[in-house]
Amino acid sequence: MAIDFEKAVGRATADFATMTAEELGTWNDMNDAEHRSQYLRFIEGYHKDHCYLCNKDFKTVSKESPCVHWLLRRGKFKNKDVVLIAQKFGYINICAYLRWCANAEILAVNINDLKDEAPEGKILSSTIKWKNIEWSFDCSPNDFAGHGGSHSNFPHYHFQMRIDGKQFINFNDYHLPFSEHDLFLLRLSKEPGMHFDFGNHGMGMQDAMDIDPEDIVNHTSPTEDEEEAAFNIQTMIIAPNKPIRGEDISAAFEESKRTGRTMASIFREKFEGTDVDVKSIVGPSETVPKITPRTEHKPR
Ligand SMILES: [Zn+2]
Ligand SMILES: [Zn+2]
Repeated sequence: MAIDFEKAVGRATADFATMTAEELGTWNDMNDAEHRSQYLRFIEGYHKDHCYLCNKDFKTVSKESPCVHWLLRRGKFKNKDVVLIAQKFGYINICAYLRWCANAEILAVNINDLKDEAPEGKILSSTIKWKNIEWSFDCSPNDFAGHGGSHSNFPHYHFQMRIDGKQFINFNDYHLPFSEHDLFLLRLSKEPGMHFDFGNHGMGMQDAMDIDPEDIVNHTSPTEDEEEAAFNIQTMIIAPNKPIRGEDISAAFEESKRTGRTMASIFREKFEGTDVDVKSIVGPSETVPKITPRTEHKPR
C-alpha cells in the first residue's frame, strides 16, 4: 500500500483515525488500485529507460526537478543531492521505487529485508541490489526518535549507496527525514492487526520467506543458475529400515530436470505413506545480497 507519490500524504493522514473497518477496507482497495495503476505506468517506462514520475529519461538529471530515478545513476548527480530526493519523496516512496526496479530484473532475490538478518532492534534495515548498484536503508530507535544535535533532532533514517562495490553515499553522511506519510504509516504498522508492506511488486525476501514452506517445495522450480535462485532448499531423507538406493536419487534428479519440480517435492511424493521421512529446510539463497550493517555513532 501507500504508493500514491503525489497525493497520499493528505489522504492517509486526514481520515484514518476515524475510519470504520468498512471504510478502511474501501481505502485499502482504492490504495491497491492506485498501486496497480502506478506500477503499470512505472514498468512501461522502465523498459524504455524512462521515468514515469518526472517523465524524463533515466539518464536525465535536471536540478529543478529532483527525482528518485537519479538513484539509478544512469546520469551523474552529486552525493549531497540525495537530500533533495529524500526531502521531496520520503522513505516509503523512495524504497518502493527502488524495489520495483530490483524486482523488474528478478523477483525478490535482490531485496534483503530479512528480519533474521537485520541487527537487533532496528526499525529499518534492508539492502537492495540493482545491476551494479546497492542501496541500504538503516534506522535505529534513536534515529526514529530524532535524538541528537540540530542536524539530526528530527525523525530520520540513514542511507548508503554503493556503485560497483565502491561507496558513493555513506550511512553517516546524511540524516534523511521521514515524511509525514512515512511516520504515519510506520506508526500505524505497529498497531495490532495492522500490516505494512510494499505490495506484490515491491516484495522482498521477507515476503518470500513468509510463504508456506510446503508451497515453496511444491511450486518452485530448480534452477541451474545460482544467480536466479530465491531459495535454498535442503532435503534430508531419513530411511529407518533400508538405505535409499542410488538409482532412486538419480531417477529423482532426472525427473526434476525433466519436469521442473524440486527434488524435495518428488521425494515426498515417492515416499508418501512409507516409513521414509523426507524433511526439507527452506532458506534464502546465497544470491541474496547481505544487509550492510551500519555502525552507529554516538549522537553528538
Ligand atoms: Zn524521474
Ligand atoms: Zn541518525
